[in-house]
Amino acid sequence: MSLADRLRRLIAAQGPIPVSDYMALANAHYYATRDPLGAAGDFITAPEISQMFGELIGLVLADVWNRAGRPGGMRYVELGPGRGTLAADALRAMRAAGLEPEVHFVETSPVLRSAQAERVPGAAWHEHISALPDDGPILAVANEFFDALPIRQLVATDSGWRERLVGVDGDRFVPAAGPPIPASAIPDHIRAAPRGTIIETSPASLACARLLADRINMQGGVALIADYGHDRTSAGETLQAVRMHNYADPWTGPGEADLTAHVDFQALMEAAAGTGLRVHGPVAQGDWLARLGIQARAEALAAAAPNRGEELRTAANRLVSPGQMGQLFRVMGLSAPAWPDPEGFQ
Ligand code: SAH
Repeated sequence: MSLADRLRRLIAAQGPIPVSDYMALANAHYYATRDPLGAAGDFITAPEISQMFGELIGLVLADVWNRAGRPGGMRYVELGPGRGTLAADALRAMRAAGLEPEVHFVETSPVLRSAQAERVPGAAWHEHISALPDDGPILAVANEFFDALPIRQLVATDSGWRERLVGVDGDRFVPAAGPPIPASAIPDHIRAAPRGTIIETSPASLACARLLADRINMQGGVALIADYGHDRTSAGETLQAVRMHNYADPWTGPGEADLTAHVDFQALMEAAAGTGLRVHGPVAQGDWLARLGIQARAEALAAAAPNRGEELRTAANRLVSPGQMGQLFRVMGLSAPAWPDPEGFQ
């Protein structure tokens, strides 16, 4: 039975389900059953566009480690590592700088775990952040991980704010206003928004950010989080489905398209900052990569492989230009109290 059929049965038996349950079930099925990345898949990410992305991340992490006095027992942790491309590129750059951390991946998809095993032999896998080792400083990376975690949607109605639920109408899944939400749960500057306004919150993302921040706070280290989203908590629906490099309807074919939502960096930042860490950014990915010297890196690689010059410059441009991935994508850093600040945020 398809996931859509199973969800229809579930809803027929129990009534409409929260958007967060719909998104969680759809994405769990989606990622468990395919490798969605690349030209032949549904979408492409920065590390799949160019090795420079992972290499620069590796260099930032190696630099922080160096300035921290080159401690032993380091762990490289990646959340949702996809094909393992970013990790492989980052680990190669770290190795060149004398850093060889133990590798721990948080990944639920068996298909992607085996892709990761090919590129990063010797990694250890975990279902959830809470299962990561609790000793040794952590160098953590999450690229396009938080956007895939489930969101709740709250909608303003004539009778106050309500949780948005997903029901069924014929073949289609349809969102509709459900039980009331206390106004105190809505941020002050949004509370009076007009009828029909939707806001999104991601308790799953905040829980992950808090757990990661707690670990770094206790064990030392830094985290780099890159994703598309906004710097301030704001109203508006951003849930989207992507299939074969095009937008699709999130309410049809659950589990057959990637469901994502913009990351609320302010909320992530507040979740992490509550633990005593220093937060850096968020800054535009284009500015961050430019400060790290992506153009010089592209030219150096092009000098070594002149036939790839055009490809390298095009890739660097795709990652930094505001009309492409440079502006909508944001990068945020976290560092433990006794650890140095990662480069690229000033
Ligand atoms: N970071 C990679 C892949 C991004 S796609 C890249 O930039 O190319 C999202 C990744 O998060 C996939 O690896 C997916 O399997 C994983 N993922 C999604 N939901 C997850 C969850 N709840 N727990 C762990 N991993 C998850």
